[in-house]
Amino acid sequence: LNFQPTVFITSAADIRQLPADDGVEIAFAGRSNAGKSSALNTLTRQRNLARTSKTPGRTQLINVFEVAPGKRLIDLPGYGYAKVPIAVKEKWQRALSEYLQKRESLKGLVLLMDIRHPYRDVDQELLHWATDCDIPVLVLLTKADKLKPGARKSTLLQAREAALVFGGDVTVEMFSSLNKLGLPLVEAKLTEWLTQ
Ligand code: GDP
Repeated sequence: LNFQPTVFITSAADIRQLPADDGVEIAFAGRSNAGKSSALNTLTRQRNLARTSKTPGRTQLINVFEVAPGKRLIDLPGYGYAKVPIAVKEKWQRALSEYLQKRESLKGLVLLMDIRHPYRDVDQELLHWATDCDIPVLVLLTKADKLKPGARKSTLLQAREAALVFGGDVTVEMFSSLNKLGLPLVEAKLTEWLTQ
């Protein structure tokens, strides 16, 4: 699948405002600042498709992109920002778990985690929800360029080991938007999910 023609379709304030639940889609999730926007831009070879966040945690919308007719990428708001009130966090988490449970068109979840701080609380929660719903997950350890090759490799192996706890279909890879490390693997997995 060629991801370059991806276009922005709409923003939704709420999961209930997403486009009709037909076709196929892949959701992208991660803590604020994990490198999600950069990864989407790298994948689509566009400099500004997803806005990279200058102010993490700012009120965010769900952004919907279309790779091809009926094939969507769903950019979920970054989480884990300390200043968001707890009630807002809880509401969002309920909506997210409902989305993972009910969305028929959802074929996979890409979970982005900074390679230097993997598996923070909400990351783990999301992984549990997704695997409980039989949604395949691609965990991307982002900003892999920040570690030396040796540390990178050992972190990857540890992260793969840790992923076993969740059961289900969880693939862990390294990724860097800076030097495109891992890009072919990401493209292959996303193509598999969107063309099944
Ligand atoms: P988001 O909040 O998850 O969308 O994260 P962004 O894509 O906005 O990235 C957050 C910060 O990390 C920005 O300053 C990016 O320039 C930086 N960043 C993102 N990806 C990479 C990467 O692969 N390598 C490095 N070194 N920095 C990155």
